[in-house]
Amino acid sequence: MVTSMAAKQTKEMKIEEKKAILPPKSNFSEWYNELLLAGEIMDVRYPVKGLYVWFPFGFEVRKRTYAIIRELLDKDHKEAMFPLLIPETEFMKEAEHIKGFENEVYWVTRGGKNELDVKLALRPTSETAIYPMYKVWVRSHADLPIKIYQIVNTFRYETKHTRPLIRLREITSFKEAHTVHATWDEAAKQVDVAVQIYIEFYKRLAIPTIVSKRPQWDKFPGADYTMAVDTLMPDNKTLQIGTAHHLGNNFAKTFDIKYEGMNGEQEYAQQTCYGISERCIAALVSIHGDDRGLVFPPEIAPVQVVVIPVLFGKSEEIIKACREVAERLKDEGFRVALDESDERPGAKYYKWEMKGVPLRVEIGPRDLKNNAATVVRRDSGSKEIVPIDKLAEEIKKRVIDIHKSLLGKARKSMEERIFDCNTLDEVRDKISEGIARIPWCGEQECGLAMEETVGAGILGIPESELGRGYGSCPICKKETTSIAIMSKTY
Ligand code: ZN
Repeated sequence: MVTSMAAKQTKEMKIEEKKAILPPKSNFSEWYNELLLAGEIMDVRYPVKGLYVWFPFGFEVRKRTYAIIRELLDKDHKEAMFPLLIPETEFMKEAEHIKGFENEVYWVTRGGKNELDVKLALRPTSETAIYPMYKVWVRSHADLPIKIYQIVNTFRYETKHTRPLIRLREITSFKEAHTVHATWDEAAKQVDVAVQIYIEFYKRLAIPTIVSKRPQWDKFPGADYTMAVDTLMPDNKTLQIGTAHHLGNNFAKTFDIKYEGMNGEQEYAQQTCYGISERCIAALVSIHGDDRGLVFPPEIAPVQVVVIPVLFGKSEEIIKACREVAERLKDEGFRVALDESDERPGAKYYKWEMKGVPLRVEIGPRDLKNNAATVVRRDSGSKEIVPIDKLAEEIKKRVIDIHKSLLGKARKSMEERIFDCNTLDEVRDKISEGIARIPWCGEQECGLAMEETVGAGILGIPESELGRGYGSCPICKKETTSIAIMSKTY
């Protein structure tokens, strides 16, 4: 008896210690790092800087997240896969592109003991791997459009501070799409389609987004223009979580991608590319998580419902009821875990809360007597008693509601941190609290001066902010109808 008491105490102490691991979310940077480990998303202990390991649990989150982007793209894209290694001869063809990436490329220079004749780049992105093939594939008008994507790893020699899921030397989960079109307008339409797909994708993750056209100095190297999707993180910095680039015929000229038009003339093709990386999971984990750990929208959660017997002494009946409930919920299509382990209920709650399980079903003696169960929501902590025969139906309702309320809460939190400003002093005051909106004439010279004055970036001018007749540019004082958004960025 004494030993078992002691064992119990040790166990409880361990749990207390474990609880202490996660700092409050208000201490975002430390909270984030600890959450990735305690929530078993990523292990940061791999012995190469900027390279991280997906835990099986994190990988399942990744799998479910990427299943959504696949589902959305598969409607009118084809998935393919191109090589990791790019010959220097292809990589060096596009001048702007090289300039944009030259400091970040890893090179393979040897095969065994032999120096390679042509160095091979580890793709930092795949334009120069894919477009030599598009040159071969595109022949006539009838071959267009081409819409292909791949989900692969890419490598960038980051010199800034690396951070799991956010700034990596191996981006493990780069979804890049590359399309080819006959005309510039068609390619521009495709950029709009891509942005819509991303907005839809992030809605499914309950993540609010802001779309803007990046300023010219911040566009993708070699593009005509770049559209970007950002979200606001808990530490009030924005995270770029998707981009779509209109490449014009810049790469087509370099890689000689031509098609024969209706009248037999040779035309350069027009191209786009657009990408999303595991930053989507950084946003997912950061925006929804709380002091107790991960919080997932039900569509993503590896376990959607955990059933926990609340036992006082021995109760075969409660165990039996829990097993039946778990089976029934599985039959209804939910991902269910039944926790029959010997841990105290409190320890079990803690464990499954950390994992972000959206719903917990508890059955204790009183529940059993009333033929009911207690349903607890992870997102709000609300507790309700539900009759067992209505359980599946009630859980279905809550699954929909949890997604809705996570999205609503995240949107509200973002909107509360967007500030209207008229002067750069106001922007400087507000920028540590979120996003600042300020009139901007759109000129590069003024934009760069604004960035320097404030010490933050211009994300761009969101479509919704064009032509709103707002005020005067803080640098040149010209009246302007457009508004830039500024923020500290990752
Ligand atoms: Zn100006």
